[in-house]
Amino acid sequence: MLQKTSHFMRQANFIDGAWVGADSGKSIDVVNPATGLTIGTVPRCGRAETRRAIEAAERAFRSWKKTSADHRAKLLRKLHDAIMDNQDALAELLTLEQGKSFAEAKGEVGMSAAYVLWYAEEGRRVYGDVVPSPWADRRILVTKEPVGVIGAVTPWNFPSSMLARKLGPALATGCTAVAKPASQTPFSGLAWGVLCEEVGFPRGVVNIVTGSAGEIGDELCENPLVRKLTFTGSTEIGKMLIQKTAGTVKKVSMELGGNAPFLVFDDADLDRAVEGAMAAKYRNSGQTCVCTNRFFVQAGIYDRFVERLAAEADKLRVGPGMDEGTQQGPLIDDKAVEKVEELIGDAREKGGKVVAGGARHALGGSFFQPTVISGATPAMRFMQEEIFGPVAPVFRFETEEEAISLANDTVFGLACYFYTGDLGRAFRVMEGLKYGLVGVNEGIITTVEAPFGGLKESGIGKEGGHQGIEDYLDTKYVCIGGLGL
Ligand code: NAP
Repeated sequence: MLQKTSHFMRQANFIDGAWVGADSGKSIDVVNPATGLTIGTVPRCGRAETRRAIEAAERAFRSWKKTSADHRAKLLRKLHDAIMDNQDALAELLTLEQGKSFAEAKGEVGMSAAYVLWYAEEGRRVYGDVVPSPWADRRILVTKEPVGVIGAVTPWNFPSSMLARKLGPALATGCTAVAKPASQTPFSGLAWGVLCEEVGFPRGVVNIVTGSAGEIGDELCENPLVRKLTFTGSTEIGKMLIQKTAGTVKKVSMELGGNAPFLVFDDADLDRAVEGAMAAKYRNSGQTCVCTNRFFVQAGIYDRFVERLAAEADKLRVGPGMDEGTQQGPLIDDKAVEKVEELIGDAREKGGKVVAGGARHALGGSFFQPTVISGATPAMRFMQEEIFGPVAPVFRFETEEEAISLANDTVFGLACYFYTGDLGRAFRVMEGLKYGLVGVNEGIITTVEAPFGGLKESGIGKEGGHQGIEDYLDTKYVCIGGLGL
């Protein structure tokens, strides 16, 4: 391990500017999914510690909100530089707890820095309005203010960048934060505490708590001092949190599950489609919310596409994320492997044919072979369920209308992709797909400049782009009367 990596691996929580343990003294083991070995522990905190973190954030908010946007932007730029100066160490930490390849982890850390820089800039452009008044002696102003203390709950699959998309706009607008990283990957979240402390964010502006998801979540949802809850994770938990925040009527942002379709039409560039398919399916071992869950391929190109995809999947190098040349790391845990096995079993029973992979990898543990299944049908479970693993089911379709209808036949609406060489079709399909993100002849489309977020049960709100700052702001209407004009 790099020396700097151990510097960022804090086995404590960051509350009110201090590194502390749980009141109970209890901790949670953090396991490296590539080896099954414990790499460290983090505090198992609960409601009391979370409440203290919220109160610290509320105290810090009183002065932080009064700082200038320019001052906050300067600190965020320092934070960006600190992340980039420590990119290798932060990436190693991420790989050790999450499993993804070091190259992907470096990419994620770079993306985190990019979000911070983007919001350093966007925070200086939070404009209000002066509205023409219907009264001669009054003037109307519309101003924007930070919402206050925000609670941020993040998942294990992108433990650094999911927090960046929340802390970036929160800090830029003058909000303060209490973050709860996922229990399986808490170190990348806690590293934000180290970074924020070292670049000089005032005490209490950023607080990071690990431990019981239920207890921390309940305090974040129910405490009236928290004015916004931003969550990235499963639709199941997201729905529950929306209900729990109703009691104190908080703003909510929800980045939830996906069931991405990937459509390939007969007129597509096959090479490009296969390249996009590999990226959109196997990145992070298929464990991303925007990973393709269902491939729909038109009859005329179906056999060639399946053959090429299977050949490419067979070539992927599976191994521990820190090994040179690894393209696919392990799955997060054995439960994830069991789910993948179940879905493959279900597909086999219903007539699907495994044309690549299909089983646990010879490396053992939670390593799994990159898999392709042909002859997929809507009766199979992955038509409706998120796979979250390296399995590519390929469905066959005949017409454009059929493809759009199959693609939309899900409660989710996060990302979708399609490949065609026909411009008219590109517009028809793009307009027909009910998704928040659409890749046309592209398999990887996330970037800080664009709004990321799902429709339907995939979420509420946007992260990234200029839209990503709105949810951290309250709009205030001010009427100034008696001007004697
Ligand atoms: P998850 O089980 O919903 O967990 C996400 C976070 O919620 C974790 O920090 C977890 O804590 C916490 N949590 C669990 N139960 C909670 C409760 N009762 N109250 C408050 N917090 C609670 O999701 P995951 O398995 O980590 O992540 C995978 C899911 O995230 C997939 O569905 C994926 O599609 C989605 N995702 C969406 C996006 C997006 O941008 N739309 C991005 C990435 C991932 P513990 O770890 O302590 O249990």
